[in-house]
Amino acid sequence: MGWRAVLAAGADLAWGGACAACLRPGPVLCAGCAAALHDRPALAVPVRAGVPFTIARGDYADDLRRVILACKERQGLTLVPVLAELLVGSAASLLEERWDGRPLRLVPVPSSRATVAGRGFDLTAMMAGRVARTLRRHQLDARAWPGLRPLRSARDQAGLDVAQRAENRRASLGARAGEPGAVLLVDDIITTGATLAEAARALGEAGHTVLGAAVVAATPRTSGHP
Ligand SMILES: [Zn+2]
Repeated sequence: MGWRAVLAAGADLAWGGACAACLRPGPVLCAGCAAALHDRPALAVPVRAGVPFTIARGDYADDLRRVILACKERQGLTLVPVLAELLVGSAASLLEERWDGRPLRLVPVPSSRATVAGRGFDLTAMMAGRVARTLRRHQLDARAWPGLRPLRSARDQAGLDVAQRAENRRASLGARAGEPGAVLLVDDIITTGATLAEAARALGEAGHTVLGAAVVAATPRTSGHP
């Protein structure tokens, strides 16, 4: 955990702030917005062929988008538990459909080293750890496992179209050594699905069974529409 994230978390507590979802002054997430987020259904995301089965808590818009952005750009650590709780809903819904009862590994989609350094913490790794802990509290045999590593630094995905993203992601991830098993991918956002497809390819080639991906939000571009 970097010092920036610690300072940001401390600043929120000391000086107060605004709700990340509705922007009204108050706690980092007000009770009304917390309830609204909690009530969002976990739904399958329409994805292209090659992209693993994915469940999200809604479109990357409105309150969901504001909370994710606040976590990544400003309030950081204080919002990680909020995103992790949303992910638990996605994961539970996915497991209900796909899980065969084998020990489960939650594999975070890795962020670049530069992203982690700039943010001060590894968001997907922290979320995977929290989701695994929650699943264990419900007697599921689940643990977080950093089973993916970047093989080379892919270009920033922003501004790339669907085909460019797919090309950018090809062979960009590798699976770490580990006993093959049932894997659930964890990420904050699915955009075109190129990253999740690459993650599933790398893990599949290493012998793992990728059940699917639990994400917080899906951008409208996921299904290929502009
Ligand atoms: Zn609010």
